[in-house]
Amino acid sequence: MYTASDPLLKIEKDTEEYRDHINTIRPDGKRAWIYAKKPKGRFYRWRTLVSYLLLALMFLGPYVRIHGQPLLLINVLERKFILFGFVFWPQDFYLVVLGLLTLILTIVLFTSVFGRLWCGWTCPQTVFMEMVFRKIEYLIEGDFQQQKQLAASPWNANKILRKGAKLLIFYAISFAIANTFLAYIIGSEELFKIISEPVSEHIGGFIAINLFTVVFFLVFARFREQVCHFACPYGRFQSALVDNDTISVTYDFKRGEKRGTLGARKKAGFSIVSAAQAGGASQAQLNAGASANPYGDCIDCGSCVVVCPSGIDIRNGIQLECVQCTACIDACDKMMDAVGKPRGLIRYTSYNAVKTGKNTLFKFRTAGYLAVWLLVLSIFTGLLLTREQIETVLLRQPGMLAQRLPDGYIGNMYSLKVFNKTFEPQKTDIRLSPEFADKGEIRFIDVMTETAAQNFTQVRFMVALKPEAVGTVNLPIEFDILLNGQLLRKKQTVFIAPGK
Ligand code: SF4
Ligand code: SF4
Repeated sequence: MYTASDPLLKIEKDTEEYRDHINTIRPDGKRAWIYAKKPKGRFYRWRTLVSYLLLALMFLGPYVRIHGQPLLLINVLERKFILFGFVFWPQDFYLVVLGLLTLILTIVLFTSVFGRLWCGWTCPQTVFMEMVFRKIEYLIEGDFQQQKQLAASPWNANKILRKGAKLLIFYAISFAIANTFLAYIIGSEELFKIISEPVSEHIGGFIAINLFTVVFFLVFARFREQVCHFACPYGRFQSALVDNDTISVTYDFKRGEKRGTLGARKKAGFSIVSAAQAGGASQAQLNAGASANPYGDCIDCGSCVVVCPSGIDIRNGIQLECVQCTACIDACDKMMDAVGKPRGLIRYTSYNAVKTGKNTLFKFRTAGYLAVWLLVLSIFTGLLLTREQIETVLLRQPGMLAQRLPDGYIGNMYSLKVFNKTFEPQKTDIRLSPEFADKGEIRFIDVMTETAAQNFTQVRFMVALKPEAVGTVNLPIEFDILLNGQLLRKKQTVFIAPGK
């Protein structure tokens, strides 16, 4: 963390120069490592609670099962997605795309109104960094002052032990994250196979786990806030979504300025405690005091700066690096409590609300986002609710021509896939439609079994038609697909006639 006394990293107060450089890069081009003070306060407690819930969900998601299916699965390789027990098969890919679009629009809408709530409260990067890795760092290396001292100290047994233990634990957690990450993609059963079977049988999986482990380790041990500053695409485009009416962690400059330390105020003959708070002053005295006292409520203690994991000074205004973690709100509230001033000098509000005293949450742009969001959400919900619960895919076996069978019949091979999207096992059957029934029969190659809940089955069969029913031209053919003995739907396809 830089300080005003650091000649290399002098804060350009009261100027706009802070926008011209990145706080984590020193003027000499080297990285300014951030030693953030351990946050404390009501927002931190709430964020801790939310984070633990999210961590539980993240770590349990691929392993907990509902009706035999994982709670969460994002198998992009096979285009199979499971959300809270609901399976989205490759046939439902349009729903996944639409769902993603809805999610992106939700983030856009919320960002334009409420800023980067996602970053501060729910982003996995912030949750892991601030609530897992940073907490371990505090535990092993102490608070920011001790961390700085340790970093500056020569390599001795204490430093090797602490740094080594920290990195070892970081690596172990990165390994656990990498395994869970892979379980989201390939499913927990496949992951257990990779773990329990010889490495030689799962070279790809073995490489993937180790690669992910190293990436996560580097992200949390080394890159940290740089991921948010430089790599995250959301962090980049959020600046196009926010404006002066967006609610975000904001310093109330009208109330805070002119800032002045307690020492400076004392020297100038002013107390941080206002005449009204001190009591006993006449209105004339109060008015006179108010006009004479140039100081606002900010006591320039720097607490909001030292606690910031992004290394910025929120008093400079809303900045790209701010992940809205609320640590500065807690730090400032503590200082306001200490000097007997109302909390909220830094709070969730907008620039315009501070400047003019009123906030315009609902604007034309917000209405536009809301309209598009509602439209996409309605389409997505409608398609989700009306999607076929039992989906059947009938295909003629590719590459197979008509066959003359020993009994003189003409055969064509087909396959039927049944996707059961319900939570009950389903018994399906297939037969030739009545108008084709006297022309031939179905000869099954596989046994047609029940389809388990949220699963699929595939059966291959041959349609054998009497030669006189076929002729020499391909003919349309129709099947009845039955569900629990009742007609579910009819399926049409083509029966290939043998060549002349
Ligand atoms: S400025 Fe405040 S809210 Fe923003 S990242 Fe820093 S501490 Fe968190
Ligand atoms: S914590 Fe509050 S009082 Fe202290 S410098 Fe920051 S804004 Fe000013």
